[in-house]
Amino acid sequence: MAAFKDISIFITGCNRGVGLALVKQILSLPDSPKVLFATCRSLKSDNSRELRELAEKNPILHLLELDVTNALQLENVVKEVEAKLAGSGLNLLINNAGIYDLKNSEYGIVSCTLDEVTRDLMMKVYETNAVAPLMIVKAFLPLLRRAAKDPPCQPQATVVNISSEDGSVALNMGGHYQYKCSKAAVNMLTVSLSLDYAKDGITVVCVDPGWIKTDMGGKAAPLTLPQAIPSLVRLIGSLDLSKTGSFLQHNGHTIPW
Ligand code: NDP
Repeated sequence: MAAFKDISIFITGCNRGVGLALVKQILSLPDSPKVLFATCRSLKSDNSRELRELAEKNPILHLLELDVTNALQLENVVKEVEAKLAGSGLNLLINNAGIYDLKNSEYGIVSCTLDEVTRDLMMKVYETNAVAPLMIVKAFLPLLRRAAKDPPCQPQATVVNISSEDGSVALNMGGHYQYKCSKAAVNMLTVSLSLDYAKDGITVVCVDPGWIKTDMGGKAAPLTLPQAIPSLVRLIGSLDLSKTGSFLQHNGHTIPW
C-alpha cells in the first residue's frame, strides 16, 4: 500500500520551519494525499506568504488559522475539517507547532538556566508544547476513530507528536528547563494516549525531527531541512499500530526515555 495515497492529513505550525518543510515534502510525493490541512497562526501575516503561495498551486492543500492554545479556534477548525472530510475520518494528525521560549532568537535554542527561567516561561511553553497537542488529539478523537474504520490506507489513524531528544530524561545534560519539561510531558502523554487508544486502532508516537537549522534550531544545527525532512516523512509513512507508544528519531532509531 503506497504511503499517503488518498489519505487526509492535519499539521499544525506550517508557515515556517519543520511544518512548512513537511507540507512541501508531502506535496512533492508521487502518491498525493486526498487533503492536507495545514494550519498557522495568521494567514494574513507576511510569515505565511510561502504557505499561501503553495496553496494557490496545490488544490489538495487547505489552509486554516489556528493558534494551538486557542480552544475556541480549535473547536471551529475541527468543524471545518469534519465538513471538508464529508463523512471520512482524519488519517494523520501531526502536532508540530512548538516554542522554545517567548522570543525568536537568531541563534536558535540557547540554554536556559535556573537563574533565567521564570514561572511565566514555564507555563507558556508547557501550554504550547504539551497542553495544546493533547487538546488537539482530544478534539480530533472522533475523526481519528472514524479513520481507523475507513478502508485500509497508510498511515491509517495516526498521531505524530513532534517531540525532541530534549524530552528524554535518560539523555538529559541539564539546563533548558521550560523546553525539556514540556517535551518530557509530550512523551508521557504520547505513551498514555497509545495505551488508551490502541483498542480503537489509533497509533500514537513521538518523533524527534533531528537538530535542524530553523528559527528554533539555529545556525549551529548540523542538519538542514532538506536533509532531515525526507527521512522524517518516510518514517511517518511507515507507521502502524506495531509502533504505537514509541519515541523515535527521524531516521527510525528508538530514543531512550
Ligand atoms: P520554528 O520556531 O522554526 O517554527 C515553530 C512553528 O510553530 C511556527 O510555525 C510557529 O508559528 C508555530 N507556533 C508556535 N507557537 C504556536 C501557537 N501558539 N499556535 C500555532 N502555531 C504556533 O520551530 P521548528 O520548525 O524548528 O520546530 C517545529 C517542531 O519541531 C517544534 O515542536 C520543535 O520543538 C520541534 N523540534 C525542532 C528541532 C530543531 O532543531 N529545529 C529539534 C527538535 C524538535 P509562528 O510563525 O506564528 O510563530
